[in-house]
Amino acid sequence: MMNKNLIETVAAGVVRRLLGQCVEVEASGRHVHLSEEAVEALFGKGHALTRKTGLSQPGQYACLERIAVQGPKKTMENVVVLGPERAQTQVEISATDALTLGIKAPVRMSGELAGTPGARLIGPRGVFDIGEGVIVAKRHIHITPEDASRLGIADNEDVDVTVFGERAATFHGVTVRVSPLFATFMHIDYDEANACGHVKGMVGFIQKARRPAWGRGHE
Ligand SMILES: [Zn+2]
Repeated sequence: MMNKNLIETVAAGVVRRLLGQCVEVEASGRHVHLSEEAVEALFGKGHALTRKTGLSQPGQYACLERIAVQGPKKTMENVVVLGPERAQTQVEISATDALTLGIKAPVRMSGELAGTPGARLIGPRGVFDIGEGVIVAKRHIHITPEDASRLGIADNEDVDVTVFGERAATFHGVTVRVSPLFATFMHIDYDEANACGHVKGMVGFIQKARRPAWGRGHE
């Protein structure tokens, strides 16, 4: 009897611990963030973005507005605009989109746009050319300070995240971003989502990044 209780207690503790290290994984499709200047150029003077549906991150939303993104090889229509307006216009595409458009977009964290390529944005009322701002978003975790401290991970740290299922995979180099303004979610793009058989509500198991033995030998 005592043994059974002990086993149950230990098992419950292990399950709690494992669940505590899980994060819900969301897949982000291609989208743009627009500056006020870009909104006016694309949709007309005085236009403000129209909120359609809220996103998991507080204050962020998908808009009714859609634009086209033009690259040297192709134009992609019907690209989602996310609000609210930002200081700098940013286009987030998958590596597959980058090949389709003919834009050599690097993998970058949101907002790290120096030296990235530009594109032509096309709206119903005009065009807006950006000299930089097209990126393939680096996979990342938005996390609250409470969740981060519970997991023992810090802002800017890269962690490993494993997902399970038919196409189980471990994502290395997942950058952690801590803020009290966040809700805890991991974001990957559609290439990554397809590679790991992503389904809505999928969870990933967070581990501290483990460096291979051959990388530690000379320290
Ligand atoms: Zn994100």
